[in-house]
Amino acid sequence: MFEIITKSPEETAAIGEKIGRLFSAGTVICLYGDLGAGKTLFVQNLAKGLEIDEDVTSPTFNIMNVYEGRLPLYHFDLYRLEQEYELEDIGFYDYVDDPDGIVVIEWADKFADCLPDDFVLLTIERTEADENERRLIFDIRGDVYTDIFREVEGLCQF
Ligand code: ADP
Ligand code: MG
Repeated sequence: MFEIITKSPEETAAIGEKIGRLFSAGTVICLYGDLGAGKTLFVQNLAKGLEIDEDVTSPTFNIMNVYEGRLPLYHFDLYRLEQEYELEDIGFYDYVDDPDGIVVIEWADKFADCLPDDFVLLTIERTEADENERRLIFDIRGDVYTDIFREVEGLCQF
């Protein structure tokens, strides 16, 4: 686990974009954090790093959006999802197992029991210090993404 502090939306955006450039097919990243933490902002910039030209919007009402870029991006937001079985209905498990895409899941902690064994985990928290400051805590579950995680840590040093 490691954490970094960003002092503006632009700093969080820059990290998102760098991570988007780094990620290879089949990577799953789960995002935890309250409303307004910066999850969607992070994903919008991850999408830039994946060379997605379309505007990325929060899929709060339709639960998932697909974008085509260097790799397909499957962007889930589970905030409005109520029942576990609905995950099956929206094809969640098929997308999560797709070795060709990148999967991002906002509000993944709402359905912690339904998540894959392996994923990169990013928690975004506000800080007491400043309204525009966020703590980005990166962690990993399982061992499939160990190398990617180390690379993420490397690029966050700059
Ligand atoms: P979420 O998807 O977690 O609900 P959003 O990404 O939609 O949150 O919104 C985050 C809001 O917080 C944006 O308005 C963004 O400009 C603002 N913000 C302020 N400071 C930061 C920061 N350091 N990192 C990310 N977002 C920030
Ligand atoms: Mg959001």
